[in-house]
Amino acid sequence: MANSIGTNSIRNGADIPTGSVVKTQVCVVGSGPAGVTAAWHLKKAGIDVVLIEGSRFESGTDAQREASWPDKTLLYAGEATGVFKNIEPDFLIQPFSGQDSNAWERERILGGTSAHWGGQSRPLSPITFEARPGYAGWPISRADLDAWYAQAVPFCALYANEFGADFWAGVLQAEVPSLAGFDIEMYQFVGEDYRNFATRTFPDGSTLADCGIDVILNASLLGIEPAGGHVRRIRVASMTTDTTQPPKPATRFHIEADAYILACGAVANAHQLLLSNIGNEHDQVGRYFMCHPLSSDRVVFVDADSYLSPPQVRLMNGKLPSGDDWRAPGTNVNVNARFVPSEEVQRHEGIGACWFWAGGGQCYFEMASNPDSRITLLDTVDEVFGLPQARIDWQLSAFDQKTYEVTGALYSAAVAAHGGSASITPWPQVVAQLTVNGHHIGTTRMSEDPADGVVDANLKVHGIDNLYVAGSSVFPSTGISNPTFTIIALSIRLADHLRQRFAMR
Ligand SMILES: Cc1cc2nc3c(=O)[nH]c(=O)nc-3n(C[C@H](O)[C@H](O)[C@H](O)COP(=O)(O)OP(=O)(O)OC[C@H]3O[C@@H](n4cnc5c(N)ncnc54)[C@H](O)[C@@H]3O)c2cc1C
Repeated sequence: MANSIGTNSIRNGADIPTGSVVKTQVCVVGSGPAGVTAAWHLKKAGIDVVLIEGSRFESGTDAQREASWPDKTLLYAGEATGVFKNIEPDFLIQPFSGQDSNAWERERILGGTSAHWGGQSRPLSPITFEARPGYAGWPISRADLDAWYAQAVPFCALYANEFGADFWAGVLQAEVPSLAGFDIEMYQFVGEDYRNFATRTFPDGSTLADCGIDVILNASLLGIEPAGGHVRRIRVASMTTDTTQPPKPATRFHIEADAYILACGAVANAHQLLLSNIGNEHDQVGRYFMCHPLSSDRVVFVDADSYLSPPQVRLMNGKLPSGDDWRAPGTNVNVNARFVPSEEVQRHEGIGACWFWAGGGQCYFEMASNPDSRITLLDTVDEVFGLPQARIDWQLSAFDQKTYEVTGALYSAAVAAHGGSASITPWPQVVAQLTVNGHHIGTTRMSEDPADGVVDANLKVHGIDNLYVAGSSVFPSTGISNPTFTIIALSIRLADHLRQRFAMR
């Protein structure tokens, strides 16, 4: 056997005999940041947790990621259409390339996509939670998340719960630029030792392998079995353990829990609910697939020195007066900044947010919510378990073009007012080269009304009393901040919700 599954305290699903029933208080499905964060906080609260991960592979090295790719191809294959057809037709299964970061969208490995994410972190802005034409509102506000963001900061080992330009100008001995109509948003990057949720240490010094969670590797969710408005159990299967050979089904067993958390990533969360036909009374599961579309080439051309002073450029690039990157001692967190149209401008112009790097570069914007951008089931089945495969159709809308064009024009004018000159590539050339860039959002969105979404404000599936969804699939709108910091804050909040629910019994 090439891979070291079954080591440490991590069990191998293939060792669980067919017909067995594993019982626990909470079963978490998926070992990315969403699942591990919820599982660890539940365990710290004294709640028994089983965390299952479908992959046969532990993670930590590039070799393990590369070895996991053939399994991923078999399990995640389907059809990616719409905007994907331009340059990401293999979106669902893109392999590890070792070079091009945009070429690896989804992992099927212990730790999930945290095996290679960039760690870039910032809370969502208050405007993200507001309902506006094109952008769905959340059933919670930014203020409702403040306390959970505050807990996510030490959990991610970030430097400080500070994302304002003035604070960071002090740390970097730099200056805050002023660009009409734009705010400066600071991003902290999680230190490399803390990024992979399969191998990182938690605030108490434990790791996933020794923190007391019953982790079962090689345990794929196949089906969710409801009885009325309650999940009775889930159906799970392992695969053969010789990882030098293509996987075949091995043992099949059930897990019975008081509550279940689906944390498989935004594509697989919707796929699993569709497979089990759960939460879809209003045809909402899989809809509103969103991302932060990224152009693969430079489309904003500007020289930072032409409109910013050297101390202002240093703030934007997170550099010290010495010219070195700033790094937090111990955790290696670093920082940098983006120009983003202010909330006032976004409301006034009816646009989403958009990133501008001080020195230009690629474009990256907030996609509007679109019900036709969606995941459905295909008639074809996967080669391992024989389950219907997923079809994902990524569709943009007129709001997206407006966001790009309006903010491009505003940025050019603002730069010109400071003596610089920015040139922006026209939309038709940009739209032909957009990639999803790793942030998969929507598909099981949060809503007050079951007719408008899949989960409620507590992330519980509407109409089911013990099934929850974690991850960016629950976001009703994307904002512009990278999603994982918010995924983590929401998972800490979900763990606390379940702690209170169990305490009331
Ligand atoms: C190149 C790249 C760079 C990125 N950089 C950043 C960044 O800088 N900042 C940021 O905020 N975000 C970034 N992201 C996004 C980030 O990786 C995701 O937001 C995050 O990993 C999502 O966490 P998750 O736990 O919801 O899902 P995932 O990390 O995808 O984990 C899902 C888990 O579920 C498992 N699973 C799937 N199906 C089953 C099943 N049937 N049974 C059991 N287990 C199953 C998978 O194997 C996987 O382990 C990046 C992504 C990419 C691709």
